[in-house]
Amino acid sequence: MDKLTEDTYRVRFALPRNSQLGLRPGQHLILRGKVDDLEIQRAYTPISPANAEGYFEVLIKCYETGLMSRYVKSWSTGDTTFWRGPFGDFFYKPNQHGELLMLASGTGLAPMVPVLQSITDNAEDETFVTLVGCFKTFEGIYLKTFLQEQARFWNVRTFFVLSQENSLEKLPWSYREKTRFGRLAQDLIEELVSSCRRKPFALVCGSAEFTKDMARCLLCAGLAEDSYFLF
Ligand SMILES: Cc1cc2nc3c(=O)[nH]c(=O)nc-3n(C[C@H](O)[C@H](O)[C@H](O)COP(=O)(O)OP(=O)(O)OC[C@H]3O[C@@H](n4cnc5c(N)ncnc54)[C@H](O)[C@@H]3O)c2cc1C
Repeated sequence: MDKLTEDTYRVRFALPRNSQLGLRPGQHLILRGKVDDLEIQRAYTPISPANAEGYFEVLIKCYETGLMSRYVKSWSTGDTTFWRGPFGDFFYKPNQHGELLMLASGTGLAPMVPVLQSITDNAEDETFVTLVGCFKTFEGIYLKTFLQEQARFWNVRTFFVLSQENSLEKLPWSYREKTRFGRLAQDLIEELVSSCRRKPFALVCGSAEFTKDMARCLLCAGLAEDSYFLF
């Protein structure tokens, strides 16, 4: 278990017999847990490549009053966990869309990670990607190294929207041009949509409120209802 931020962990699970999960990028699993004799189930989205052998990884944000969060915090290395799946009906096909506009808030980044990786791992997939990650603070941005590496590919660009920062000078140079402050709202969505190099298909993942807001903004920016997918 790797602590990424104050409340979020990247957790690696070994799979039996060096097997593969067999998930499609962006699909999720259901984790079973037990707290105070109460059985609970919650969804988590693997961030490891879909074809990773012998393991998978998830990003888990723990909430103070969360039940599964309590169970997760009780884990030690070597514990066994129970998962079922796959679930989710987003099926990515290489080159199906000219450009993917990924709008992610917090752990909503998770389904974007394997989709993005499947694009950059496949030299024949020429889909453009614009990924926008919304976080509270710079420290709170997940998987910075991975995202910086991905942004070096010719077809990928990344942006960040930080709701609790307000000084560009406090950010590393490499983030200044691609970071905005405040909330991701209509004006920025319109700017992003119009700066897409090809007709965008949007992927949205975050809280229910974020998802609803983004769907409204995308429609106002001229996208059709079949031009976005809400995780
Ligand atoms: C399809 C899908 C995929 C998901 N993938 C991931 C993933 O990859 N990583 C991940 O960390 N989570 C993911 N989630 C969310 C996850 O399933 C749980 O809802 C989350 O971990 C909280 O569970 P809990 O039992 O700890 O909290 P609960 O016991 O369900 O909630 C208790 C309290 O925790 C707080 N809380 C719980 N969830 C939220 C929230 N989203 N925002 C603010 N406060 C909250 C609230 O105060 C709430 O009252 C996904 C959810 C779905 C539906």
